[in-house]
Parts: sequence; structure tokens; C-alpha cells
Amino acid sequence: MFPDYHIHTRRCGHATGTAVEYVEAAKAAGLTEIGFSEHLPMPGRDDRSLTMPADELPVYVDEVLNLREEYPEIFIKLGIEADYFPGYEERLAETLSAYPFDYVLGSVHFIGDWGFDDSRNLEKWRRQDSGAVFDAYYELVAKAVGTGLFDVLAHPDLVKKFGFLPSEDQSANYRTIARALAQHGTAVEISSAGLRKPIGEIYPSAPFLRELAAAGVRFTFGSDAHRPREVGSAFPDLLQSLRECGGGVLVGFSRRRPEELGRVSGSGDDD
Ligand code: ZN
Ligand code: FE
Ligand code: FE
Ligand code: ZN
Repeated sequence: MFPDYHIHTRRCGHATGTAVEYVEAAKAAGLTEIGFSEHLPMPGRDDRSLTMPADELPVYVDEVLNLREEYPEIFIKLGIEADYFPGYEERLAETLSAYPFDYVLGSVHFIGDWGFDDSRNLEKWRRQDSGAVFDAYYELVAKAVGTGLFDVLAHPDLVKKFGFLPSEDQSANYRTIARALAQHGTAVEISSAGLRKPIGEIYPSAPFLRELAAAGVRFTFGSDAHRPREVGSAFPDLLQSLRECGGGVLVGFSRRRPEELGRVSGSGDDD
């Protein structure tokens, strides 16, 4: 099984379970490698329901590094999930370089001040034109990738989470993101979290995944677990989806260097 590189703990304020409980769950699920990717505190937005408090970041880092020693039977990577906010690139770069992260997941959860993937902010979706929201989202994602600050783009079409889908075709947005990822050598996450959300499908959607595979972008798998039992959830579905969409290379990371873990061939391939 490929590693689960997207795992939270109760430290973020909206998940349950301690880091130890996630490690135990991963072992029980037969995973041989996982990465913690707790939400990085956001600049100027100290919200205990979204991230750990800023002063807890070193505690998180120590906790994961200690677990790595305590559980030699499973590879434990130190990751972080960082939000992209335009204008905060330098500050983010500084924070990221201050810790020995193995990888950084880049996420867009905000369009301006609007946390569009937060169910507490659902009302705003009903007052917006979904096509404009999707375009604004992908514009931010392209910018995020363009900073080169992130190793992996997390849940690349998170904007579909609540199912407010635009009628406009999204293939131009998909191509823009695929091209940016390929150009910057940034990997992209295939995530089972969407299966647990109203949209009820994997991030990214099949048409998006086909663009990513065709562009030769490399992949990681993630559950975005916010409960221990979610670790590694629906990974066979992720694998099948990747096969059906053309296949590709899965990567892992150590100290922000990618290493190839394996190649998944497309179901149309002969060899
Ligand atoms: Zn979260
Ligand atoms: Fe996220
Ligand atoms: Fe996450
Ligand atoms: Zn996430």
C-alpha cells in the first residue's frame, strides 16, 4: 500500500484522536509509511477551530519526531498542511524553513476571507455564482503552485466539496493547474476525503486526474484523516481511479526531497 500523507490529529481543534492513536490505526490498516500533516497556524488568523495555536508548532514537530523513534516498524514522516494566502509568501517560507519538514502540503481553503470549505460558511455558497467561485479558486491554486513553496498540492478540486457545481466546463482550469504543477515539479494529492463529503467523490475528479496524469505530474495518496479510523481509507479506490485515468508515478518525501515509490500503469497500457 502507498503511504497516507494527509493525517490530522486533535491538535488542530476539529479532529479527534492523538497522534499515537493515528499511528496505531495506520499499523492496524497495514500501512508501512504515513505522514502527519497538521494544519499550520495561519498568519493573522489565530482560530483554535482551524489550526493549532502558533506556539504549539514546535510541540507538534517534537511529537512527530519522537513518534518516529518510538515506532521503528512504520516510517513516520513530518509533514505540514499550509494554507496559501497571497502576500504572505515570505513569512510562510521563513516558517517552513525553521523546521525539518519532510514535505509541505499546499492547500487553498480560503477565497479572500471566505473559508469556502467550512460548513459553517455554507450560506455564502447560495449567494454566489459557482462558476466565478471555481475560477477564483483555481486562480489561487495556480498562484500557490507558482510560489514553489509547496511539495504537494492537496485536494486539488476541494472547491467542489459541497456540490455547488458550475455549469461551465472546467477543463481549462484543470489544464492550467496540471501545467503549473508539471512546470514546478510539484506533486499532487489523490484524496479519499471527498468520498466522505457531500460531493461523494475523490479529489481530483476523473477529468482532472486525466489532465494531471497526461501532464506527467507525480502523485501522493491522502485520506485527510480527522479521525483515527479514517487513516488509509478507500486507498484501493484511489489506486483504481489513478489506473483508469492513465496511471503515473507515486512519490514519497524526506526532508523535502521526492523519491519515487512506484509506478501505477494505466488500465489502457499493454505492459
Ligand atoms: Zn482539517
Ligand atoms: Fe485541507
Ligand atoms: Fe487536511
Ligand atoms: Zn485537508
